[in-house]
Amino acid sequence: MTDRIPKPRPLTFIAAAAFFLMPAPFVSADSYPRQTCVDIRHYAFALDLRDDTDALSGEAVVDILFTADGIRELVLDLDNRTADGKTGMAVSAVRAETGPLAFTHENDRLRIDLGTAARKGERRRISVSYSGVPGDGLIVGKTKHAERAFFADNFPNRAHFWIPTVDHPSDKATCEFAVTAPEAYQVVATGEMIESTNLDGGRRLTRYRSSVPVTTYCMVIGLARFAVETVGRIDGVPVQSWVYAAERDPGFSDFRIALKPMEFFDWRIGPFPYEKLANVQSKTRYGGMENASAIFYHENVVSGQNRAESLFAHEIAHQWFGDSVTESDWDHTWLSEGFATYLTHIYAEYTKGRDALVAGLRRDRDQVLRYYQRNPNTAIVTPAAPDLRNILSTNSYQKGGWFLHMLRRLVGDEAFWNGISAYYNRFKNGNALTDDFRAVMEEVSRTNLEEFFRQWVLTPGQPEIGGDWSYADGLLTVNLRQLQAAETVYRTNLDLGFVSEPGATPKFETIRLDGRDGTFTFKLEKEPADVVLDPNVWLLWKPGPFGRAR
Ligand SMILES: [Zn+2]
Repeated sequence: MTDRIPKPRPLTFIAAAAFFLMPAPFVSADSYPRQTCVDIRHYAFALDLRDDTDALSGEAVVDILFTADGIRELVLDLDNRTADGKTGMAVSAVRAETGPLAFTHENDRLRIDLGTAARKGERRRISVSYSGVPGDGLIVGKTKHAERAFFADNFPNRAHFWIPTVDHPSDKATCEFAVTAPEAYQVVATGEMIESTNLDGGRRLTRYRSSVPVTTYCMVIGLARFAVETVGRIDGVPVQSWVYAAERDPGFSDFRIALKPMEFFDWRIGPFPYEKLANVQSKTRYGGMENASAIFYHENVVSGQNRAESLFAHEIAHQWFGDSVTESDWDHTWLSEGFATYLTHIYAEYTKGRDALVAGLRRDRDQVLRYYQRNPNTAIVTPAAPDLRNILSTNSYQKGGWFLHMLRRLVGDEAFWNGISAYYNRFKNGNALTDDFRAVMEEVSRTNLEEFFRQWVLTPGQPEIGGDWSYADGLLTVNLRQLQAAETVYRTNLDLGFVSEPGATPKFETIRLDGRDGTFTFKLEKEPADVVLDPNVWLLWKPGPFGRAR
């Protein structure tokens, strides 16, 4: 997702070694209490929504595969009714195909006694009947046009405020929604629309089904008075705009841009994973939220002036990374946000040229350096729990994006894009951790990347590089020193740019920085006007004092 709503115009916007501070293992784990022998395969939600109350009544049928013998309990996340009774869910019944089941519902956990122990490989269906006013997760309220609307907004673990689920990205499932609501609303949801039936009493039943497994934070419904347009198809997949009816013209105008990033990523990464892509104006708290096949954008995104192209690129990139290949642990959120961040820069490079990529990377680098000053002990993969607010940090977005940029340089463009596609194809509609990504990149590049990942993904910080240069007798001498206070010494490639005269594009040589200090000499016919470090913006580093020796 992204927190940024586009501003009014103008729209501006190595092998390494850790000698000390050996970092934590790659597989860190957040604190979610996992049921390792339970695999939810499918959710079918039937929801009744009304105008005379903010309460919903629902039935969830949960299809479970048990992966070990002797399982006697299933635990689902579902928000409890508050003490004053105003919000939260009350469960009226839990049933198996064989009859009613006993349950408790405390501390937002619905514990279901399975009656008889489940066997390994067994499938069971359990239905939960419940009702209440959602305290969060499903936003029931008015749009900026003072029209009533309902929008799910689940990230990161807010689905359980309105649907009983294993509310953690490690357990993905297919899903369907059957929504009954006043007929004035159109309903958008995850998956493909499979039914729209007008009922008696001014109500309508709308059903959606996703035959592709998705994570609970991406399972959504949205109800409003919409204007709906199909703007085209990419690889046979319909791309739709759902904007408030009151903003039909500017909304349709802005949202058509979605075809471009959709087509680009479909070509660059691999086939789009879902049945459709709806881009939806909504009440999400974020600038944009990448719900699978139904991206929700903040309602203020519509301007009629096509200001949101990079926001669209970011959320659409998530359909591949985050939504289809999902981090199975919150500590690895960079696999979602770092990818979306870098792919947005790549899209800018594709549409506007390399200067746009470089400008984005420079902005991100400044942000990473500022963030590090305030948070010197956190890395890209850092324990997120218990406070999930930490997962949306500069580390997971900008530093994660920068890591991919450096990886691209290290392995080369061809191996990098082959690796991105191979990683997508291997983990599509499933889950992955950082090590899975590393293994794929090692395979395609035939390079051991363990130290590279360790240095940049698991270790806080980045090098600070300074030094001086001098020229005498046809020889340029460059002295470099790593100035960072941290004990980590980086081993990295670094480009040195030689500027023949002021304003000229530097020629460059790549050196290998292996220790705290390094001296490098080059035969040059003429004294350069200047020497610059990293002229092509390939390294995440902090500039220290550097210039001609006095
Ligand atoms: Zn994002």
